Amino acid sequence: MAKIKYFYNPHSLDFEKVTTNVRGLAIRVFGFLSASIVAGAILLIVAYNYIDSPKEKMLKREIDLYKEQSELLNKKVDQLSGVLSELQDRDASIYRAIFEADPISANIRKGGYGGVDKYTELKGYASSGELIALHKRVDQLSKQLYIQSKSFDELAKLAENKNDFLAAIPAIQPVANKDLRRMASGFGYRVHPIYKTYKMHTGIDFTAPTGTPIYATGNGRAINPEDGMAGYGNHVMIDHGFGYKTLYGHLHRVKVKPGQKIKRGQLIGYVGNTGLSSAPHLHYEVIKNGKKINPINYFFNDLSESEYTAMRVLSERPTQSFD
Ligand SMILES: [Zn+2]
Repeated sequence: MAKIKYFYNPHSLDFEKVTTNVRGLAIRVFGFLSASIVAGAILLIVAYNYIDSPKEKMLKREIDLYKEQSELLNKKVDQLSGVLSELQDRDASIYRAIFEADPISANIRKGGYGGVDKYTELKGYASSGELIALHKRVDQLSKQLYIQSKSFDELAKLAENKNDFLAAIPAIQPVANKDLRRMASGFGYRVHPIYKTYKMHTGIDFTAPTGTPIYATGNGRAINPEDGMAGYGNHVMIDHGFGYKTLYGHLHRVKVKPGQKIKRGQLIGYVGNTGLSSAPHLHYEVIKNGKKINPINYFFNDLSESEYTAMRVLSERPTQSFD
């Protein structure tokens, strides 16, 4: 029920009813509503931008916690990387060196990310950069660890076979010291005795009289002569396993047959002058993984330090080889 309002009219000296104008009322209502909406909007904007809701406060606390944790994790990854790189260093410079395992390249050790972008689902957030960086570090660390553990597996196997390995690798002189006239020619560039040209000499020549015994320098098996080795005359080749082979050339007589198992120190033949040879001598080669290497590094079983040094000096003198 609307109240009826009256007002005093001084002209008629009477109270008269107040008649409300509909249009005026509408304007007043509209004005009030507009003011309320504007005020409300301003309030909302202020609240939205400057005042956190309890939920927002909680979320912000959570984000701070995550940031702290991610920093902590980064520090832990740093520590783990440090420990791992120490292991890698020791592995490369000590363990793999002792067992003569092939070195692992720095590139492989680094453990790349691989071509595919695995982190797309992490993109598009404020913390994407940090998160992806941390993921990459952990992934890389896992790969490096995997490579390191593979390396240790390999070494464990080598350690298991260590006795076989030590018995197999060439480790003595093929001709006894007492039988040697002199060390004729070492590994390196020498004048070829027959062609008289400067040529790589891929072994060591031991000068000794025809018929001097020649001994196998490590355990293994005699193998069939390879093609293109006529220049070595009568010769013996032994496969020692572990990537090692030895060759004994210009023999007067061969005492072993291809396929025969051979022990270190076993008589395998006698010094001679067969093939491309200018005087009785033994041409001795050590081959590792298909590459001819300096046999001087493989006499460690039967030379004293001074004998070794003397031999080394002699073997490096640029004399003519007997081939
Ligand atoms: Zn030679």
